[in-house]
Amino acid sequence: MSQTSKLFEDWNLNPKMAKAIADKGWKNPTEIQNEAIPVARNGRDVVGQARTGSGKTAAFGIPIIESCESTGMTQAIILCPTRELAVQVAEELSWIQGDQGITIQTVYGGTDVDKQAKLLAKGVDIIVGTPGRVIDMSKRGHINLENITYFCLDEADRMLDMGFFPDVLWIFEQMSSRKQTLLFSATFPQEIIDAAEEFMNDPVYVMSDDLEVDVPEIDQYAVRIGRANKLWVLGRIIANMKDEDQMLIFTNTKRMVDLIEERLGKFGMKAVGLHGDKAQNRREKILDSMRDRRERIVVATDVAARGLDVEGITHVVNYDLPDDTESYVHRIGRTGRMGRQGVAWSLVSKEDIANLDKIANTWNLQIPYVEAPDLPKGIARDPVKKREDWGELTDPFGMVNVSVEVGSEEITKRSLADWIVTEARIPEISIGEIVQKNDSSTVQIHVEKVSYVIDVISKRELNGRNLKPKILEIRVKA
Ligand code: AMP
Repeated sequence: MSQTSKLFEDWNLNPKMAKAIADKGWKNPTEIQNEAIPVARNGRDVVGQARTGSGKTAAFGIPIIESCESTGMTQAIILCPTRELAVQVAEELSWIQGDQGITIQTVYGGTDVDKQAKLLAKGVDIIVGTPGRVIDMSKRGHINLENITYFCLDEADRMLDMGFFPDVLWIFEQMSSRKQTLLFSATFPQEIIDAAEEFMNDPVYVMSDDLEVDVPEIDQYAVRIGRANKLWVLGRIIANMKDEDQMLIFTNTKRMVDLIEERLGKFGMKAVGLHGDKAQNRREKILDSMRDRRERIVVATDVAARGLDVEGITHVVNYDLPDDTESYVHRIGRTGRMGRQGVAWSLVSKEDIANLDKIANTWNLQIPYVEAPDLPKGIARDPVKKREDWGELTDPFGMVNVSVEVGSEEITKRSLADWIVTEARIPEISIGEIVQKNDSSTVQIHVEKVSYVIDVISKRELNGRNLKPKILEIRVKA
Protein backbone atom coordinates (compact mmCIF):
# COMPACT_ATOMS: atom_id res chain seq x y z
CA MET A 1 0.00 0.00 0.00
CA SER A 2 1.14 3.49 -0.57
CA GLN A 3 0.52 6.68 1.26
CA THR A 4 -0.51 9.77 -0.66
CA SER A 5 1.00 13.22 -0.36
CA LYS A 6 -2.30 14.57 0.98
CA LEU A 7 -2.48 15.57 4.63
CA PHE A 8 -5.08 14.57 7.21
CA GLU A 9 -4.63 18.07 8.61
CA ASP A 10 -6.14 19.62 5.49
CA TRP A 11 -9.38 17.72 5.83
CA ASN A 12 -10.80 19.71 8.64
CA LEU A 13 -11.79 16.59 10.52
CA ASN A 14 -13.58 16.69 13.84
CA PRO A 15 -10.85 18.15 16.15
CA LYS A 16 -10.87 15.26 18.63
CA MET A 17 -10.47 12.74 15.85
CA ALA A 18 -7.84 14.91 14.14
CA LYS A 19 -5.89 14.99 17.38
CA ALA A 20 -6.08 11.20 17.84
CA ILE A 21 -4.84 10.67 14.30
CA ALA A 22 -2.01 13.15 14.75
CA ASP A 23 -1.09 11.60 18.11
CA LYS A 24 -0.91 8.22 16.44
CA GLY A 25 1.64 9.70 14.05
CA TRP A 26 -0.46 9.39 10.91
CA LYS A 27 0.11 12.31 8.56
CA ASN A 28 -0.87 11.17 5.11
CA PRO A 29 -3.95 9.20 4.16
CA THR A 30 -3.41 6.00 2.19
CA GLU A 31 -4.76 5.79 -1.34
CA ILE A 32 -8.02 4.13 -0.40
CA GLN A 33 -8.51 6.62 2.45
CA ASN A 34 -7.83 9.51 0.13
CA GLU A 35 -10.37 8.24 -2.38
CA ALA A 36 -13.09 7.01 -0.06
CA ILE A 37 -13.12 9.42 2.89
CA PRO A 38 -14.01 12.68 1.08
CA VAL A 39 -16.79 10.95 -0.87
CA ALA A 40 -18.19 9.28 2.24
CA ARG A 41 -18.01 12.55 4.18
CA ASN A 42 -20.27 14.02 1.54
CA GLY A 43 -22.86 11.46 2.52
CA ARG A 44 -22.53 9.31 -0.59
CA ASP A 45 -22.65 5.52 -0.57
CA VAL A 46 -19.25 4.05 -1.36
CA VAL A 47 -18.12 0.76 -2.86
CA GLY A 48 -14.40 0.48 -2.24
CA GLN A 49 -11.87 -1.98 -3.53
CA ALA A 50 -9.27 -2.56 -0.89
CA ARG A 51 -7.32 -5.38 0.60
CA THR A 52 -6.28 -5.81 4.19
CA GLY A 53 -3.24 -3.68 4.81
CA SER A 54 -4.39 -0.83 2.56
CA GLY A 55 -5.76 1.24 5.41
CA LYS A 56 -9.38 0.37 4.64
CA THR A 57 -10.47 0.28 8.28
CA ALA A 58 -9.85 3.99 8.68
CA ALA A 59 -11.26 4.58 5.19
CA PHE A 60 -14.70 3.68 6.53
CA GLY A 61 -13.93 4.29 10.21
CA ILE A 62 -13.19 8.00 9.89
CA PRO A 63 -16.41 8.98 8.07
CA ILE A 64 -18.54 6.69 10.23
CA ILE A 65 -17.16 8.10 13.48
CA GLU A 66 -17.64 11.58 12.15
CA SER A 67 -21.30 10.85 11.53
CA CYS A 68 -21.88 9.44 15.02
CA GLU A 69 -22.27 11.05 18.40
CA SER A 70 -22.04 9.75 21.90
CA THR A 71 -25.74 9.20 22.55
CA GLY A 72 -25.98 5.54 23.55
CA MET A 73 -28.35 4.97 20.63
CA THR A 74 -26.83 2.70 18.01
CA GLN A 75 -26.22 4.78 14.92
CA ALA A 76 -23.82 2.61 12.92
CA ILE A 77 -23.14 -1.05 12.37
CA ILE A 78 -20.08 -2.58 10.74
CA LEU A 79 -20.17 -6.21 9.67
CA CYS A 80 -16.99 -8.27 9.42
CA PRO A 81 -16.49 -11.89 8.34
CA THR A 82 -14.53 -13.02 11.40
CA ARG A 83 -14.32 -12.30 15.09
CA GLU A 84 -10.64 -11.45 14.79
CA LEU A 85 -11.37 -8.82 12.20
CA ALA A 86 -14.28 -7.44 14.24
CA VAL A 87 -11.96 -7.05 17.24
CA GLN A 88 -9.33 -5.34 15.13
CA VAL A 89 -11.82 -2.96 13.55
CA ALA A 90 -13.31 -2.08 16.94
CA GLU A 91 -9.85 -1.42 18.36
CA GLU A 92 -8.90 0.87 15.49
CA LEU A 93 -12.19 2.77 15.68
CA SER A 94 -11.78 3.17 19.42
CA TRP A 95 -8.56 5.08 19.16
CA ILE A 96 -9.54 6.99 16.02
CA GLN A 97 -12.49 8.58 17.83
CA GLY A 98 -10.16 10.14 20.39
CA ASP A 99 -11.96 11.21 23.53
CA GLN A 100 -15.40 11.82 22.05
CA GLY A 101 -16.87 9.19 24.34
CA ILE A 102 -18.38 7.20 21.51
CA THR A 103 -19.00 3.61 22.62
CA ILE A 104 -18.00 0.90 20.23
CA GLN A 105 -19.10 -2.64 20.97
CA THR A 106 -18.16 -5.92 19.29
CA VAL A 107 -20.89 -8.50 18.77
CA TYR A 108 -19.72 -11.93 17.66
CA GLY A 109 -20.45 -15.59 18.22
CA GLY A 110 -18.70 -17.83 20.71
CA THR A 111 -19.20 -15.39 23.56
CA ASP A 112 -21.82 -15.31 26.26
CA VAL A 113 -25.14 -14.00 24.90
CA ASP A 114 -26.38 -12.63 28.22
CA LYS A 115 -23.19 -10.72 28.91
CA GLN A 116 -23.31 -9.26 25.45
CA ALA A 117 -26.98 -8.35 25.90
CA LYS A 118 -26.13 -6.49 29.11
CA LEU A 119 -23.41 -4.50 27.39
CA LEU A 120 -25.77 -3.60 24.57
CA ALA A 121 -28.45 -2.59 27.05
CA LYS A 122 -26.09 -0.01 28.54
CA GLY A 123 -26.23 1.77 25.21
CA VAL A 124 -23.71 1.66 22.37
CA ASP A 125 -23.12 4.04 19.50
CA ILE A 126 -21.36 1.77 17.03
CA ILE A 127 -21.60 -2.02 16.71
CA VAL A 128 -18.88 -4.05 15.03
CA GLY A 129 -20.05 -7.60 14.57
CA THR A 130 -20.20 -10.82 12.63
CA PRO A 131 -23.46 -11.47 10.74
CA GLY A 132 -24.74 -14.54 12.61
CA ARG A 133 -24.55 -13.06 16.10
CA VAL A 134 -25.86 -9.69 14.94
CA ILE A 135 -28.95 -11.43 13.55
CA ASP A 136 -29.29 -13.47 16.72
CA MET A 137 -29.10 -10.38 18.93
CA SER A 138 -31.53 -8.46 16.79
CA LYS A 139 -34.04 -11.35 16.88
CA ARG A 140 -33.70 -11.41 20.65
CA GLY A 141 -34.47 -7.72 20.70
CA HIS A 142 -31.04 -6.48 21.83
CA ILE A 143 -30.22 -4.69 18.59
CA ASN A 144 -32.74 -2.60 16.73
CA LEU A 145 -31.55 -2.70 13.15
CA GLU A 146 -34.48 -0.56 12.00
CA ASN A 147 -33.15 2.55 13.68
CA ILE A 148 -29.51 2.29 12.60
CA THR A 149 -28.57 4.75 9.90
CA TYR A 150 -24.98 3.90 8.88
CA PHE A 151 -24.05 0.51 7.56
CA CYS A 152 -20.65 -0.80 6.57
CA LEU A 153 -19.70 -4.16 5.11
CA ASP A 154 -16.04 -5.01 5.50
CA GLU A 155 -14.41 -7.74 3.39
CA ALA A 156 -17.65 -8.44 1.57
CA ASP A 157 -15.99 -11.07 -0.62
CA ARG A 158 -14.89 -13.05 2.43
CA MET A 159 -18.43 -12.97 3.74
CA LEU A 160 -19.60 -14.36 0.44
CA ASP A 161 -16.91 -17.08 0.48
CA MET A 162 -17.83 -18.06 3.99
CA GLY A 163 -21.49 -18.40 3.16
CA PHE A 164 -22.60 -15.35 5.16
CA PHE A 165 -24.22 -13.52 2.30
CA PRO A 166 -27.82 -14.58 2.99
CA ASP A 167 -27.33 -13.21 6.53
CA VAL A 168 -25.86 -10.00 5.19
CA LEU A 169 -28.81 -9.52 2.83
CA TRP A 170 -31.24 -10.17 5.69
CA ILE A 171 -29.54 -7.43 7.72
CA PHE A 172 -29.68 -5.06 4.74
CA GLU A 173 -33.40 -5.64 4.52
CA GLN A 174 -34.05 -4.92 8.19
CA MET A 175 -32.24 -1.59 8.10
CA SER A 176 -35.16 0.50 6.90
CA SER A 177 -33.69 3.81 8.14
CA ARG A 178 -30.37 3.30 6.42
CA LYS A 179 -28.98 6.65 5.22
CA GLN A 180 -25.52 5.65 4.10
CA THR A 181 -23.83 2.38 3.17
CA LEU A 182 -20.14 1.69 2.69
CA LEU A 183 -18.99 -1.60 1.21
CA PHE A 184 -15.38 -2.75 1.05
CA SER A 185 -14.04 -5.80 -0.70
CA ALA A 186 -10.81 -6.99 -2.30
CA THR A 187 -12.61 -8.65 -5.19
CA PHE A 188 -16.01 -8.22 -6.77
CA PRO A 189 -17.83 -11.42 -7.60
CA GLN A 190 -21.19 -10.90 -9.32
CA GLU A 191 -23.18 -11.45 -6.11
CA ILE A 192 -21.51 -8.44 -4.51
CA ILE A 193 -22.05 -6.21 -7.51
CA ASP A 194 -25.72 -7.32 -7.56
CA ALA A 195 -26.13 -6.59 -3.84
CA ALA A 196 -24.48 -3.18 -4.23
CA GLU A 197 -26.88 -2.33 -7.04
CA GLU A 198 -29.92 -3.54 -5.21
CA PHE A 199 -29.26 -2.12 -1.77
CA MET A 200 -27.05 0.90 -2.26
CA ASN A 201 -28.04 4.32 -3.39
CA ASP A 202 -26.11 5.37 -6.48
CA PRO A 203 -22.78 4.42 -4.90
CA VAL A 204 -19.45 5.93 -5.88
CA TYR A 205 -17.07 3.17 -6.91
CA VAL A 206 -13.58 3.69 -5.60
CA MET A 207 -11.55 1.04 -7.35
CA SER A 208 -9.39 0.12 -10.29
CA ASP A 209 -11.24 0.04 -13.61
CA ASP A 210 -10.85 -3.64 -14.27
CA LEU A 211 -12.16 -4.81 -10.89
CA GLU A 212 -8.99 -6.77 -10.36
CA VAL A 213 -7.52 -7.54 -7.00
CA ASP A 214 -4.93 -5.10 -5.92
CA VAL A 215 -1.98 -7.48 -5.87
CA PRO A 216 0.61 -6.41 -3.35
CA GLU A 217 4.00 -5.62 -4.76
CA ILE A 218 6.22 -8.10 -3.04
CA ASP A 219 8.79 -10.59 -4.25
CA GLN A 220 7.21 -13.88 -5.20
CA TYR A 221 9.08 -17.11 -5.88
CA ALA A 222 8.17 -20.69 -6.54
CA VAL A 223 10.28 -23.73 -5.75
CA ARG A 224 9.52 -26.89 -7.68
CA ILE A 225 9.70 -29.63 -5.07
CA GLY A 226 8.00 -32.92 -4.25
CA ARG A 227 5.77 -33.23 -1.21
CA ALA A 228 8.39 -35.29 0.59
CA ASN A 229 10.86 -32.42 0.49
CA LYS A 230 8.67 -29.41 1.14
CA LEU A 231 9.80 -29.42 4.73
CA TRP A 232 13.41 -29.39 3.59
CA VAL A 233 12.81 -26.23 1.54
CA LEU A 234 10.83 -24.69 4.39
CA GLY A 235 13.76 -25.40 6.71
CA ARG A 236 16.08 -23.54 4.35
CA ILE A 237 13.78 -20.54 4.07
CA ILE A 238 13.50 -20.41 7.85
CA ALA A 239 17.27 -20.76 8.22
CA ASN A 240 17.60 -17.65 6.06
CA MET A 241 15.22 -15.51 8.14
CA LYS A 242 16.63 -12.61 10.08
CA ASP A 243 15.96 -12.39 13.81
CA GLU A 244 13.31 -9.71 13.40
CA ASP A 245 11.49 -11.53 10.58
CA GLN A 246 8.15 -13.25 11.04
CA MET A 247 6.60 -15.95 8.92
CA LEU A 248 3.10 -17.08 8.09
CA ILE A 249 2.88 -20.55 6.54
CA PHE A 250 -0.31 -21.49 4.73
CA THR A 251 -1.64 -24.94 4.15
CA ASN A 252 -5.03 -26.15 2.99
CA THR A 253 -6.19 -28.34 5.86
CA LYS A 254 -6.31 -28.20 9.66
CA ARG A 255 -4.59 -31.58 9.76
CA MET A 256 -1.65 -30.23 7.80
CA VAL A 257 -1.45 -27.22 10.12
CA ASP A 258 -1.02 -29.59 13.07
CA LEU A 259 1.41 -31.76 11.17
CA ILE A 260 3.66 -28.91 10.06
CA GLU A 261 3.62 -27.38 13.54
CA GLU A 262 4.63 -30.73 14.98
CA ARG A 263 7.31 -31.52 12.39
CA LEU A 264 8.92 -28.07 12.55
CA GLY A 265 9.02 -28.41 16.32
CA LYS A 266 10.71 -31.77 15.97
CA PHE A 267 13.42 -30.20 13.85
CA GLY A 268 13.99 -27.41 16.33
CA MET A 269 11.98 -24.69 14.58
CA LYS A 270 9.27 -23.44 16.91
CA ALA A 271 5.99 -22.74 15.18
CA VAL A 272 2.42 -22.38 16.34
CA GLY A 273 -0.67 -23.54 14.48
CA LEU A 274 -3.79 -21.44 13.90
CA HIS A 275 -6.99 -23.03 12.69
CA GLY A 276 -10.71 -23.01 13.24
CA ASP A 277 -10.70 -25.88 15.76
CA LYS A 278 -8.69 -23.87 18.25
CA ALA A 279 -10.72 -22.02 20.83
CA GLN A 280 -11.38 -18.37 20.16
CA ASN A 281 -9.32 -17.07 23.07
CA ARG A 282 -6.43 -19.33 22.11
CA ARG A 283 -6.52 -17.91 18.58
CA GLU A 284 -6.53 -14.37 19.90
CA LYS A 285 -3.59 -15.16 22.16
CA ILE A 286 -1.65 -16.50 19.21
CA LEU A 287 -2.32 -13.32 17.23
CA ASP A 288 -1.24 -11.21 20.21
CA SER A 289 1.96 -13.18 20.62
CA MET A 290 2.68 -12.64 16.93
CA ARG A 291 2.10 -8.90 17.34
CA ASP A 292 4.40 -8.57 20.30
CA ARG A 293 6.90 -10.91 18.65
CA ARG A 294 6.89 -13.74 21.11
CA GLU A 295 6.05 -16.02 18.18
CA ARG A 296 7.96 -15.91 14.92
CA ILE A 297 6.29 -18.59 12.86
CA VAL A 298 2.57 -19.27 12.53
CA VAL A 299 1.07 -22.06 10.43
CA ALA A 300 -2.51 -21.37 9.38
CA THR A 301 -5.39 -22.30 7.12
CA ASP A 302 -6.90 -19.60 4.93
CA VAL A 303 -9.99 -19.27 7.08
CA ALA A 304 -8.03 -18.84 10.31
CA ALA A 305 -5.79 -16.19 8.78
CA ARG A 306 -8.58 -14.08 7.33
CA GLY A 307 -8.36 -10.46 8.32
CA LEU A 308 -5.25 -11.18 10.32
CA ASP A 309 -3.40 -7.93 10.77
CA VAL A 310 0.14 -8.40 11.98
CA GLU A 311 2.43 -5.77 10.60
CA GLY A 312 5.73 -7.55 11.12
CA ILE A 313 5.13 -10.50 8.80
CA THR A 314 7.99 -10.57 6.30
CA HIS A 315 7.60 -14.07 4.89
CA VAL A 316 4.57 -15.88 3.56
CA VAL A 317 5.04 -19.51 2.55
CA ASN A 318 2.45 -21.40 0.56
CA TYR A 319 3.20 -24.90 1.73
CA ASP A 320 0.42 -25.93 -0.64
CA LEU A 321 -1.08 -23.76 -3.30
CA PRO A 322 -4.71 -22.82 -2.66
CA ASP A 323 -7.35 -24.14 -5.05
CA ASP A 324 -8.85 -20.73 -5.65
CA THR A 325 -6.80 -17.95 -7.13
CA GLU A 326 -8.11 -15.25 -4.80
CA SER A 327 -6.80 -16.97 -1.70
CA TYR A 328 -3.29 -16.68 -3.08
CA VAL A 329 -3.63 -12.92 -3.24
CA HIS A 330 -5.12 -12.78 0.26
CA ARG A 331 -2.30 -14.93 1.55
CA ILE A 332 0.54 -12.92 0.10
CA GLY A 333 -1.22 -9.73 1.19
CA ARG A 334 -0.27 -10.69 4.76
CA THR A 335 3.28 -9.59 4.12
CA GLY A 336 4.84 -6.39 2.86
CA ARG A 337 2.28 -4.36 4.79
CA MET A 338 2.58 -0.63 5.15
CA GLY A 339 5.30 -0.64 2.50
CA ARG A 340 7.57 -3.07 4.34
CA GLN A 341 9.67 -5.59 2.48
CA GLY A 342 7.98 -8.90 2.05
CA VAL A 343 8.56 -12.14 0.22
CA ALA A 344 6.20 -14.94 -0.69
CA TRP A 345 7.42 -18.46 -1.41
CA SER A 346 5.30 -21.15 -3.01
CA LEU A 347 6.32 -24.79 -2.66
CA VAL A 348 5.10 -26.41 -5.83
CA SER A 349 4.78 -30.18 -6.10
CA LYS A 350 3.36 -32.00 -9.09
CA GLU A 351 -0.16 -31.51 -7.76
CA ASP A 352 0.36 -27.76 -7.34
CA ILE A 353 1.69 -26.89 -10.80
CA ALA A 354 -1.72 -26.38 -12.38
CA ASN A 355 -2.86 -24.16 -9.50
CA LEU A 356 0.21 -21.98 -9.70
CA ASP A 357 -0.26 -21.56 -13.46
CA LYS A 358 -3.89 -20.58 -12.90
CA ILE A 359 -2.93 -18.06 -10.22
CA ALA A 360 -0.18 -16.50 -12.33
CA ASN A 361 -2.47 -16.26 -15.36
CA THR A 362 -5.46 -14.87 -13.47
CA TRP A 363 -3.56 -12.02 -11.87
CA ASN A 364 -0.92 -11.64 -14.54
CA LEU A 365 1.88 -12.35 -12.08
CA GLN A 366 5.48 -13.27 -12.66
CA ILE A 367 6.28 -15.99 -10.15
CA PRO A 368 9.67 -17.34 -11.23
CA TYR A 369 10.75 -20.87 -10.39
CA VAL A 370 13.96 -20.74 -8.40
CA GLU A 371 16.09 -23.25 -6.52
CA ALA A 372 15.62 -23.63 -2.78
CA PRO A 373 17.69 -20.92 -1.09
CA ASP A 374 21.22 -21.87 -0.06
CA LEU A 375 22.01 -22.30 3.59
CA PRO A 376 23.21 -19.01 5.03
CA LYS A 377 26.89 -18.59 5.83
CA GLY A 378 27.83 -20.14 9.14
CA ILE A 379 25.13 -22.81 9.02
CA ALA A 380 26.57 -26.04 7.76
CA ARG A 381 23.65 -28.41 8.14
CA ASP A 382 20.14 -28.37 6.78
CA PRO A 383 17.53 -28.04 9.53
CA VAL A 384 15.63 -30.83 7.71
CA LYS A 385 17.48 -33.36 5.57
CA LYS A 386 16.56 -33.76 1.91
CA ARG A 387 15.06 -37.14 1.06
CA GLU A 388 14.79 -39.20 -2.07
CA ASP A 389 11.40 -38.54 -3.54
CA TRP A 390 10.62 -41.05 -6.24
CA GLY A 391 6.95 -40.19 -6.39
CA GLU A 392 7.78 -36.71 -7.57
CA LEU A 393 9.97 -37.96 -10.40
CA THR A 394 7.57 -40.37 -12.01
CA ASP A 395 5.29 -39.68 -14.93
CA PRO A 396 1.66 -40.83 -14.82
CA PHE A 397 2.76 -44.37 -15.79
CA GLY A 398 5.23 -44.59 -12.93
CA MET A 399 8.27 -44.11 -15.15
CA VAL A 400 11.36 -42.16 -14.13
CA ASN A 401 13.77 -40.63 -16.66
CA VAL A 402 17.35 -41.74 -16.27
CA SER A 403 20.20 -40.36 -18.36
CA VAL A 404 23.15 -42.51 -19.40
CA GLU A 405 26.34 -41.45 -21.10
CA VAL A 406 26.05 -43.52 -24.21
CA GLY A 407 24.29 -42.34 -27.37
CA SER A 408 23.12 -43.39 -30.81
CA GLU A 409 26.68 -43.23 -32.18
CA GLU A 410 27.59 -46.24 -30.09
CA ILE A 411 24.47 -48.27 -29.49
CA THR A 412 20.92 -48.72 -30.73
CA LYS A 413 17.95 -48.24 -28.43
CA ARG A 414 17.16 -51.94 -28.68
CA SER A 415 20.65 -53.02 -27.65
CA LEU A 416 20.77 -50.52 -24.80
CA ALA A 417 17.44 -51.83 -23.46
CA ASP A 418 18.65 -55.42 -23.80
CA TRP A 419 21.88 -54.62 -22.00
CA ILE A 420 20.06 -53.04 -19.06
CA VAL A 421 17.52 -55.89 -18.88
CA THR A 422 20.29 -58.50 -18.89
CA GLU A 423 22.66 -56.76 -16.49
CA ALA A 424 20.00 -55.82 -13.96
CA ARG A 425 17.84 -58.92 -14.50
CA ILE A 426 14.62 -56.97 -14.67
CA PRO A 427 11.57 -57.70 -16.78
CA GLU A 428 11.55 -55.93 -20.14
CA ILE A 429 8.36 -54.13 -19.21
CA SER A 430 10.27 -52.11 -16.60
CA ILE A 431 11.98 -50.22 -19.43
CA GLY A 432 9.91 -47.62 -21.23
CA GLU A 433 10.77 -45.23 -24.00
CA ILE A 434 14.36 -44.43 -24.88
CA VAL A 435 15.32 -41.09 -26.40
CA GLN A 436 18.79 -40.79 -27.85
CA LYS A 437 21.26 -38.08 -28.72
CA ASN A 438 24.63 -38.79 -30.34
CA ASP A 439 26.45 -39.23 -27.06
CA SER A 440 23.73 -39.77 -24.46
CA SER A 441 20.37 -41.43 -23.96
CA THR A 442 17.39 -40.96 -21.69
CA VAL A 443 15.87 -44.22 -20.58
CA GLN A 444 12.52 -44.52 -18.82
CA ILE A 445 12.68 -46.99 -15.97
CA HIS A 446 9.81 -47.95 -13.71
CA VAL A 447 9.90 -46.32 -10.28
CA GLU A 448 9.93 -49.67 -8.49
CA LYS A 449 13.11 -50.77 -10.22
CA VAL A 450 14.90 -47.50 -10.83
CA SER A 451 16.91 -47.35 -7.64
CA TYR A 452 18.13 -50.88 -8.08
CA VAL A 453 18.88 -50.45 -11.81
CA ILE A 454 20.95 -47.35 -11.17
CA ASP A 455 22.82 -49.21 -8.48
CA VAL A 456 23.65 -52.09 -10.78
CA ILE A 457 24.62 -50.18 -13.90
CA SER A 458 26.78 -47.71 -12.07
CA LYS A 459 28.94 -50.70 -11.16
CA ARG A 460 29.09 -52.17 -14.69
CA GLU A 461 30.77 -51.14 -17.90
CA LEU A 462 29.44 -51.03 -21.43
CA ASN A 463 32.10 -50.99 -24.19
CA GLY A 464 34.66 -50.51 -21.42
CA ARG A 465 33.00 -47.38 -19.98
CA ASN A 466 30.85 -46.53 -17.01
CA LEU A 467 27.52 -45.03 -18.13
CA LYS A 468 27.13 -42.72 -15.12
CA PRO A 469 23.36 -43.11 -14.80
CA LYS A 470 21.55 -40.10 -13.38
CA ILE A 471 17.93 -39.39 -12.52
CA LEU A 472 16.46 -36.47 -14.41
CA GLU A 473 14.15 -34.06 -12.64
CA ILE A 474 10.87 -33.43 -14.35
CA ARG A 475 11.22 -30.20 -16.18
CA VAL A 476 8.88 -27.27 -15.64
CA LYS A 477 8.37 -24.05 -17.50
CA ALA A 478 10.31 -21.27 -15.83
P1 AMP B 1 -6.06 -1.93 7.40
O1 AMP B 1 -5.98 -2.12 5.91
O2 AMP B 1 -7.17 -1.06 7.78
O3 AMP B 1 -6.05 -3.26 8.12
O4 AMP B 1 -4.74 -1.13 7.87
C1 AMP B 1 -3.47 -1.68 7.85
C2 AMP B 1 -2.54 -1.05 8.86
O5 AMP B 1 -2.16 0.26 8.46
C3 AMP B 1 -3.15 -0.88 10.24
O6 AMP B 1 -2.19 -1.26 11.19
C4 AMP B 1 -3.45 0.60 10.32
O7 AMP B 1 -3.44 1.03 11.65
C5 AMP B 1 -2.37 1.23 9.49
N1 AMP B 1 -2.74 2.49 8.81
C6 AMP B 1 -3.90 2.71 8.18
N2 AMP B 1 -3.92 3.95 7.64
C7 AMP B 1 -2.74 4.54 7.92
C8 AMP B 1 -2.17 5.83 7.61
N3 AMP B 1 -2.83 6.74 6.89
N4 AMP B 1 -0.94 6.08 8.07
C9 AMP B 1 -0.26 5.15 8.79
N5 AMP B 1 -0.75 3.93 9.13
C10 AMP B 1 -1.96 3.61 8.67
